[in-house]
Amino acid sequence: MPLKQDSITVGGTTVNAGERKYIDLPLPHLYSHSPVNMPVHVIHGRKAGPRLFVSAAIHGDEINGVEIIRRLLHTKALENLKGTLIAVPVVNVFGFNNKSRYLPDRRDLNRCFPGSERGSLAGQIARLFIDNIVSHCTHGIDLHTAAVGRSNLPQIRTDLEDNPGMLEMAQAFHSPVILNAPIRDGSLRSVAREYNVPVMLYEAGEALRFDEIPIRAGVRGVLSTMRHLGMLPMGKSRKTPASSMLSHGSKWVRAPQSGILRVMKSMGKHVNEGDILGYVADPFGTTEEIIYSHLSGIIIGRSTLPLVHEGEALFHIAGIDDADDINGTLKQFNHEIDPDMENLFS
Ligand SMILES: [Zn+2]
Repeated sequence: MPLKQDSITVGGTTVNAGERKYIDLPLPHLYSHSPVNMPVHVIHGRKAGPRLFVSAAIHGDEINGVEIIRRLLHTKALENLKGTLIAVPVVNVFGFNNKSRYLPDRRDLNRCFPGSERGSLAGQIARLFIDNIVSHCTHGIDLHTAAVGRSNLPQIRTDLEDNPGMLEMAQAFHSPVILNAPIRDGSLRSVAREYNVPVMLYEAGEALRFDEIPIRAGVRGVLSTMRHLGMLPMGKSRKTPASSMLSHGSKWVRAPQSGILRVMKSMGKHVNEGDILGYVADPFGTTEEIIYSHLSGIIIGRSTLPLVHEGEALFHIAGIDDADDINGTLKQFNHEIDPDMENLFS
């Protein structure tokens, strides 16, 4: 029999077994002196089990994850939660309010971990997040999107060698692609590793947008990961979702010259080395240059802005270990997420 769990205290607020509570973690004030808080929702199951944090908007303009968490928290299945879910929909509250990836001091929060109590604004927020959220948890999912003017195919990014159960946890999310991505210094993942908390990133859609398919796939992915971890019952037998395609490396194809971009290959398409991805030309189309792919793989991210400078990253291509049935996998994924839609990615 699983044990009834002890209470948990987050930011000075105690949550007993079987309770859910909203908690505000105080942050430095605005310069108008208005108070600012990081909103946290703790759902503490009756029985002990894994403790998962789900965070969004560490980059303040990446808001798909905010909606994923809202829908997640309204899911009935959470009534049967075993363990603890700590949801933090807006980590970078300052960036979120400014519709910006960064903090007002122009720092990238995801390069400022672990931070310190007496550090920069970014460092203080990073420290607060580690001390109040990560330190309580056994697992984490951090929700992101592509930067402004770019879009990502739904994908999990993690370091598969980081933790023995990482591959299974990533597969449980059922995103079309798992990208084995090295950990960056100063990122949340780099510090979570020191706390022995496996963290994976879900990257999907575009900044400053609500992208319906990436949002639905995100909610499904978090719930499915929770079932895999034993936090939610398996429920009635459902069809096994499409397996993720595994990639051990990705590269960007860049603009050969400045100009206006026309795209020939859409998101999720498989391309071979030498394929034409698009064209860049001046406004009259007289000095056109062809953009060739310099590797084979699947397009997992691309620029959505047709105005480009030479050297700008345009197509993000991930090599796929088993390229046999890419189209079949994506078709099944599309059908699972929204059977009525035909062209999910463009
Ligand atoms: Zn991000």
